[in-house]
Amino acid sequence: MNLFALLDQAASRFGDRGAVYLGDRQVLSWSQLRDRSLRLAASLGAPGTRVAVASENRPEIVELMFGVWAAECVYVPINYKLHPREMMQILEDSGAEVVFASPKIAPTLNVPAEVIGSSSYEDRFAGAPSAPPVTDPQTLAWLFYTSGTTGKSKGAMLSHRNLMAMTVSHLADFDDPDENCSLVHGAPMSHGSGLYVPPYVLRGARQVIPESAAFEPEEFLDLCEHHPGCSAFLAPTMVQRLVQTGRSCPANLRTIVYGGGPMYVESLKKALAAFGPVFVQLYGQGEAPMTITGLRRGDHIDTDDAALGSVGYARSGVDVAVWREDDTPAAVGEIGEIVCRGDVVMSGYWKNPEATAATLQNGWLRTGDMGSFDERGYLTLRDRSKDVVISGGSNIYPREVEEVLLEHPGVVEAGVVGAPDEEWGEVVVAFIVGSVTAQELDAHLLERIARFKRPKRYEFIDELPKNSYGKVLKRALRERLR
Ligand code: AMP
Repeated sequence: MNLFALLDQAASRFGDRGAVYLGDRQVLSWSQLRDRSLRLAASLGAPGTRVAVASENRPEIVELMFGVWAAECVYVPINYKLHPREMMQILEDSGAEVVFASPKIAPTLNVPAEVIGSSSYEDRFAGAPSAPPVTDPQTLAWLFYTSGTTGKSKGAMLSHRNLMAMTVSHLADFDDPDENCSLVHGAPMSHGSGLYVPPYVLRGARQVIPESAAFEPEEFLDLCEHHPGCSAFLAPTMVQRLVQTGRSCPANLRTIVYGGGPMYVESLKKALAAFGPVFVQLYGQGEAPMTITGLRRGDHIDTDDAALGSVGYARSGVDVAVWREDDTPAAVGEIGEIVCRGDVVMSGYWKNPEATAATLQNGWLRTGDMGSFDERGYLTLRDRSKDVVISGGSNIYPREVEEVLLEHPGVVEAGVVGAPDEEWGEVVVAFIVGSVTAQELDAHLLERIARFKRPKRYEFIDELPKNSYGKVLKRALRERLR
């Protein structure tokens, strides 16, 4: 089983209908998308070759994804918001032999990259198409890079089977699109929005890429007026930005799946009041893509705050449990680490057996998230044992920012935490010991890490609070902010 089969089926059933759109303009039909993916596949390397794609949202991403799978290569998408230095780390770690990059990103990389949309890119479609593949479902399909707690990215290895399990669960639990529907790519296609391509391709739903290549609330809503039966995956911050436009729900907007970071109850209520019952919540992580627990559309109607503030209940095909420190199951209401198991769970981290052994135990994935179940089976997230800050749906690992801050000669100590924020969910705040200004630190970080990871605020203090082992007390830092 190869994910290419989903496109194969759509092309046989819906051949000449529109498949990929840029704004309101059709770019490819289903037959054309299938044909181009198979030609592209013939131009790629041997099975198992890692093929990296660093780009803002573009129509070509869909043919790249299926072309890579048709060649039994491994798709390695890179978030376009990362700093070139961070992109290079992913290219090196994955050992990508083929790199596709957008015209904007290609010149910033230290390796040769094929510019998406260039004439040499188009030359790849001149050759004969490859034959549709027959593939062992365990074959690696996608390396999903998450920021590591040690500051170094780790590649979660996702197979064709993992992504097929995600696809089936999505269609069973959340959405039931058909050929008169559309998936609008508001969020980055290197992550959630791209992961949702397979279920919508299987059903022949249009893939709609905004012309801005990014998320512009007004443009997104206009696209949902124009295209039929629209669904989208959006980070909670994006949902808030839609609500802030003051516009009512477009007639063709069917489903917004939100998740990837906390959605506060008050924000969710405002969104429901503005747009009606179009919302679905997912809780997942790169290691179990888009699929651990969720709240379905109906679960948002006539319900209580405890349900709205939860991440819902186990998704179809996934076992979810909460473990105590000794790995025994926690009681109802007791907080422990959330673990899950099922066909959706990754097989490990790429070339990182230590991290794999720490994260996968007897088939269970340790999520690093802390939470508890209530008597109805609703799971509520309480804290993250991994310490990650989630700002506007993007994960920021404090350790990574701290390490870069400490590279500045004026910084003696640095402690980074997340502070609750109405707009972003959380924002990054850095506590600094040393003699340096906020402006100098900003300039220092701009040269080294992605913009979105920079602290929104600096607090200069005499020393960081520490426990008896000398470990910085992050809890104490967070308390200072309250
Ligand atoms: P990533 O691997 O980048 O997708 O990040 C996954 C992490 O985001 C999870 O481990 C959670 O900490 C957080 N997360 C995902 N979904 C939700 C949600 N619905 N509510 C709160 N946090 C979430």
